[in-house]
Amino acid sequence: MSLGLHDPVSATRTQLASDLVAAGAAVVAAGLSPGSSGNLSARATDGTILITPGGAVLGALDPDRLAVLDAHGEWVGGDKPSKEASLHLALYRKNPEHRAIVHVHSPQAVAASCLEPWAPHSALPPLTPYFVMRAGQTPLVPYRAPGSPELADLLTVLTFPFHAALLQNHGQLTSGRDLATAIDAAIEVEEASRITLMTAGQRRRLLDEAEIADLTARYGSSWTPDSR
Ligand SMILES: [Zn+2]
Repeated sequence: MSLGLHDPVSATRTQLASDLVAAGAAVVAAGLSPGSSGNLSARATDGTILITPGGAVLGALDPDRLAVLDAHGEWVGGDKPSKEASLHLALYRKNPEHRAIVHVHSPQAVAASCLEPWAPHSALPPLTPYFVMRAGQTPLVPYRAPGSPELADLLTVLTFPFHAALLQNHGQLTSGRDLATAIDAAIEVEEASRITLMTAGQRRRLLDEAEIADLTARYGSSWTPDSR
């Protein structure tokens, strides 16, 4: 997705804030944020994180009211952060080079999160190349109430690499090197969930190990071989 956003490595905090506003509108336009659900964050080079406040409507964010967290994840400014900030912090710790996170309750991903996971490393099977390229393996994080610190702990204990996850009976979480990349991954998780649901119970062809290895080598995504 091309949003005309700033390079997060050199962006000022004001630029990051305006990028989050544009990203929130893009997430809503993509149909990923029913109601006022979901939250977004961006991380500056100094480790400061801007995150949407609790209850914020992603399509109408106020750049002056975004919550500010310091490099340790402490709330230091703006409105009170989303109660799901701990999930963002956990995924940033897992992907230290990433600078943006999208968490949404997009309908197809929520539906897929209510199914038994395809495998321990990925709740969704490798059905399409774009899913493998942009999202990669997408594990299922067991259910805990939204905002529970345990939910972040359950993500942290997964030691294999990933930057997309389904949260059981809840939604999806993706990170990227910038907001546009994180949104692209969220769109792919939504599409992969939809295709998984459409093909459930049928004899379906999965991408094979060689095909997956070719994609992960070329696009730098993660997929653990023999993950089933
Ligand atoms: Zn949520």
